[in-house]
Amino acid sequence: MPIQGIAIRGQRSLLRQIREALASGGPAQARLDMVVRIIARSMVAEVCSLYLRRPGGEMELFATEGLESKAVHVTRLKQGEGLIGEIMRQGRPLNLADAPSHPAFSYRPETGEDPYHAFLGVPLLRGGRAIGVLVVQNRTERVYTEDEVEDLQIIAMVLAEMVAAGELIKEEELKGVELAPHRPERLKGQKFAEGLALGVAVLHEPPVAPSHLLADDAQAEEQRLNTAIAALQAQIDQMLEGQHGLVEASYEVLDTYRMFAHDRGWNRSLVDAVRNGLTAEAAVERVRSEHRARLGQARDPYLRERLHDLEDLNDRLLRHLAGDGHAARELPDGAILIARNLGPADLLEYDRTKLTGLLLEEGSAASHAAIVARALDIPCVGRLPGLRDRVNEGDTVIVDAETGEAYLRPRPDVRKAITARMEVRAQRRAEFAKLRETPAFTRDGAKITLLMNAGLDVDLELLREAGAEGIGLFRTEFQFMVAEELPRFSAQAALYARVMDAAAGLPVTFRTLDLGGDKVLPYLEAEREDNPALGWRAIRMGLDRPALLRLQLRALIAAARGRPLRIMFPLVATVDEFRQARALVDHEVAWAQRRGRPPPSRLDVGAMIEAPSLIWHLDALLPMTDFVSVGTNDLMQYLFAADRGNPRVADRYDVLSPPALRALEAIQRACAETGTPVSVCGEMAGRPLEAFVLVALGFEQLSMPPAGVGPVKQMVLSCDREAARRGVSALIKGGAGSVRNEIETLARKLYLAV
Ligand code: PEP
Ligand code: MG
Repeated sequence: MPIQGIAIRGQRSLLRQIREALASGGPAQARLDMVVRIIARSMVAEVCSLYLRRPGGEMELFATEGLESKAVHVTRLKQGEGLIGEIMRQGRPLNLADAPSHPAFSYRPETGEDPYHAFLGVPLLRGGRAIGVLVVQNRTERVYTEDEVEDLQIIAMVLAEMVAAGELIKEEELKGVELAPHRPERLKGQKFAEGLALGVAVLHEPPVAPSHLLADDAQAEEQRLNTAIAALQAQIDQMLEGQHGLVEASYEVLDTYRMFAHDRGWNRSLVDAVRNGLTAEAAVERVRSEHRARLGQARDPYLRERLHDLEDLNDRLLRHLAGDGHAARELPDGAILIARNLGPADLLEYDRTKLTGLLLEEGSAASHAAIVARALDIPCVGRLPGLRDRVNEGDTVIVDAETGEAYLRPRPDVRKAITARMEVRAQRRAEFAKLRETPAFTRDGAKITLLMNAGLDVDLELLREAGAEGIGLFRTEFQFMVAEELPRFSAQAALYARVMDAAAGLPVTFRTLDLGGDKVLPYLEAEREDNPALGWRAIRMGLDRPALLRLQLRALIAAARGRPLRIMFPLVATVDEFRQARALVDHEVAWAQRRGRPPPSRLDVGAMIEAPSLIWHLDALLPMTDFVSVGTNDLMQYLFAADRGNPRVADRYDVLSPPALRALEAIQRACAETGTPVSVCGEMAGRPLEAFVLVALGFEQLSMPPAGVGPVKQMVLSCDREAARRGVSALIKGGAGSVRNEIETLARKLYLAV
């Protein structure tokens, strides 16, 4: 029985033989020839050939045992040509009993290939990208066994890593072979957190080093793998159990996870790879590469989503193998972190003093990583397709979060230009810092209160640094989003107390949990909804499941310990919702008092104006509130019916347009008439030109990301509110779509620093 696979399994040393052959010195070509000879012998194949990819996509025959040696470096197949092209395109093995009868077969006479029928080709994969093809051929018509396919794939993986690491062929001998990207590249993405950075690439998920691909003791390695898989399965089962009793959550997402974790096919592929001599880590990478190559091409969003789940599982498994999933890695100075996406607390585990930028292949501006990056003031660009495969550890990279681009291995002129722009930014920052203690009065004497938006401990340091007069919006859901499990009462109360302590008497407005919509919790997965932005989120969730909201209110009251307390409810759409929410606050205050705990010395309860419905019911709402805050991010999304998280539609309208400005004007007027304090806390409040318009409309409290305080203060100090009011009110009456250009002209005319 021709069980060629046994040849390898019996002598696991094949991979070692290959390594020894390579280490033997001598010219590169001779070593490569030796490698294909060893493989041919072990697989009992008459032919073994190695093709590598040239930059244009051509596939060059680099070494062969069995085909004509004069064809080496001569035979080149065009991109997509022949069976080799087919394997490159599909990223998976091709196993044929009779290759010449395959429609894609391309005959090259110089190779002397005619007598061979059986054909098995596997891609050399790196990071889901094929960089070459390894082929074995036999004269007889036969289909190679599954074991043989597996064996050849493992050899191909090891070869791919060795080639890429320069162990197989010296760099100069590779000439134009594109194994690892080395040219300057510019990738276009989206800016997630403002700023510029130039530094050294650090891969969040580094590839397994070639020296750690082969295991010394396969049995011990299998044990290690099994232990890690068992720990992973237990962890996921536990996460599912943790969901009981919190909310009526759907198990769908975690359940899919569990399904994958327990999937026999996945487990078996891993075990097989280890039995064949790979380390557990290398086995994970091999199986991952194959999945990526297979699913990465899928158009079907469902399949792509599954790839996502698998990637997460692979990362988790690697962390279990490392023994400690949370050990932070040492960073070089000026590190720029490269990741597919980051999990809840990942970014916080790195040394903040060394981390200068972040590039993400996926993610969204509302993703955890982006939120934390903004809080830490780390420039971040996301949605960079192909990023991880285009960048090597240690490459020089630039994060241009002004334009939403990433430069990999930039040319000196690009570096120079970025350095110059960074200097300008630093100068401006220094100017803003000088204004830190200056109160923000307009030239005609109106006091504008500039507050800061926050949501994590890390933001608190920025309060004084930014020169804000308090926190106008504390997004309490962030604590929930960066946690691995639902924060308990004590953790919530401790955070709120820390925030109030840090504010040291400055006002802090706590917004109750604004979950749902784009803010989902991995451990509290809600029903999937067709329209999450219009769905069960924010105060709707809070009122339907009051246990969670009441626990939070209790934590806020406890944290205040007799100090003033400001609470605000998100996405109120009807006055009844506000009435009910307020009743819960009163109930909790009474509860605390009954237990002899001090009530807040002053309690202000407000509503966010984010649902357009409230604009026409302010007469009923305002008398019930102590203050309101306009959440323009959501208000505009609902006003213009354009999903704020969807890049296709988010930019279709301009907030500087009559409908948006008239809505804001109506809110400001109603508040002024009733004497209700009002602030604007959407992102627009942090952009000087938009903030100028808000001041012109009469708003006197603006809450914004910390980086906005300096520039907005500079604008306020140079602004004549009365002149601005006259100019803006004329523009609001117009029939134009956007009045941005006109407002820019007005701002210039008034010598504004915007
Ligand atoms: C808003 O919607 O404008 C707002 C401030 O809240 P968030 O961005 O957290 O939804
Ligand atoms: Mg909102």
